[in-house]
Amino acid sequence: MSKHFDLIAIGAGSGGLSAAERAAEYGMKTAVVENNRLGGTCVNVGCVPKKVMWFASGIAETLHDAEGYGFDVTLDNFDWANLVDARESYINGINEWYGTYLTDSNIEHLHGTAKFIDKHTLDVDSTRYTADHIVIAPGGYPMVPDIPGKEHILTSDGFFALKQQPKRVAVVGAGYIAVELAGLLNGLGSDVSLLLRKDHFLASFDAMLRETLMEEMVEAGVNIMPRINIDQIEKLENGTLTIHCASGVTLENYDALIYAIGRAPNTAPLSLESAGVIADEHGYIPTDEYQNTNIPNIYAVGDVTGRAQLTPVAIAAGRRLSDRLFNNMPERKLDYENIPTVVFSHPPIGTIGLTEDEARQLHGDAVKVYQSRFTAMYHALSPNSQKTAMKLVCVGASEKVVGVHIIGMGADEMLQGFGVAVKMGATKKDFDNCVAIHPTSSEELVTMR
Ligand code: FAD
Ligand code: NDP
Repeated sequence: MSKHFDLIAIGAGSGGLSAAERAAEYGMKTAVVENNRLGGTCVNVGCVPKKVMWFASGIAETLHDAEGYGFDVTLDNFDWANLVDARESYINGINEWYGTYLTDSNIEHLHGTAKFIDKHTLDVDSTRYTADHIVIAPGGYPMVPDIPGKEHILTSDGFFALKQQPKRVAVVGAGYIAVELAGLLNGLGSDVSLLLRKDHFLASFDAMLRETLMEEMVEAGVNIMPRINIDQIEKLENGTLTIHCASGVTLENYDALIYAIGRAPNTAPLSLESAGVIADEHGYIPTDEYQNTNIPNIYAVGDVTGRAQLTPVAIAAGRRLSDRLFNNMPERKLDYENIPTVVFSHPPIGTIGLTEDEARQLHGDAVKVYQSRFTAMYHALSPNSQKTAMKLVCVGASEKVVGVHIIGMGADEMLQGFGVAVKMGATKKDFDNCVAIHPTSSEELVTMR
């Protein structure tokens, strides 16, 4: 007889753990299947180690800025290995905490790789389990191109495994990860080239954000190279990498090459067809707004759905799903509109809602934009004259705020509260009715003319 559960989640990452936790809180007999470390991508090879590295890079910037504030700082060394050890021991602590938490919460941890036998049955490393409800939350993995020399490529996973700082590194890609890793490596003292296949990065972001970030990264010393298409990677006897481009140009002497060109869903090992679950041509599992797949007792949350690949989105979707299934809340679901997001670049970006271009396409002349660009007070004294830029995108006679875009020091922490305002449907007048906090950068957002 197979062991039976009310709910099994495939994947103990942000989405699977959240659905399981909530189900267990409602007294359901619950399990999560995990074939790797508890916590998933975010905890082990995503948000958490990335943010530690971003903090470290920020400290390097602050040490540099200290001179302008009268400090005579002599920097002797930066010990990458030490930082990585401290980071990994912090993450091990989170992994252990999750283990205890699962036990305390009465959630069974099934170790191994899940695949479907039928719509109620999973095989986990040759043991069968059945469940009334199954949540698919296996996340994704970083993609690499199929080119000669691809074995020399590091992905973000490989970046986090580096025990030594790469002195000269090329980062390929144009999304969150490429921009974040290029920025933090540069801040920590690596010589960084960011290789774009087009002219810009962060294509889906407001133009003001990507243009300001590009200026700031160039100013900070990142070598941004547009229109680079890589044909081949060659490792020389001295251990360095040579990058051969389609144009005939070769880029030489790199000791690491990191690709961050998007992620693909972890659906291949799941035998979805055994349960009749439909995936799209890329392997993503389409769901309706309630996270239902095409099979009534099977749901999908998180990155595997291909929508807004962010930890809090996976968490919110997982929790709401279990609220709906087990707490008599038939309409409970995640609203995927107006999700705030931060890029931990240098300087950081905080953004929510429509870009100016999107708003103009949707609302034409009814759009009014308020913008501000300034040097934050902190940078008035530092040797670094980094710019802060902000934009409010408003629509209609009431000037409803449909987009808030911020780049600059503190943008990452500024956005959450403004996200609440946008979600509540605030107008420009509502923003202006809130008395400014002085002296801050965020006061600009309530005083723009
Ligand atoms: P995951 O967290 O990937 O969890 C899936 C789990 O399922 C994994 O542990 C995997 O081992 C397991 N699994 C897969 N298949 C099986 C199987 N068949 N059987 C058993 N177990 C299986 N998001 C943010 O919001 N902020 C950030 O700052 C941020 N930074 C990021 C930085 C990087 C470098 C990366 C790569 C991602 C980052 N993200 C960030 C995105 C975030 O990590 C993901 O959106 C989030 O982890 C998705 O959660 P998930 O539950 O869908 O999948
Ligand atoms: P993204 O999807 O964000 O960006 C990848 C980009 O790389 C593409 O949009 C494309 O841009 C470019 N690209 C694609 N193929 C190639 C290629 N062959 N050669 C060169 N460039 C290419 O992927 P990431 O890997 O950066 O991140 C995955 C997801 O993880 C993110 O979308 C985000 O949801 C999440 N994440 C969130 C973070 C956060 O919240 N701070 C941080 C990190 C990740 P173009 O077409 O313009 O060339």
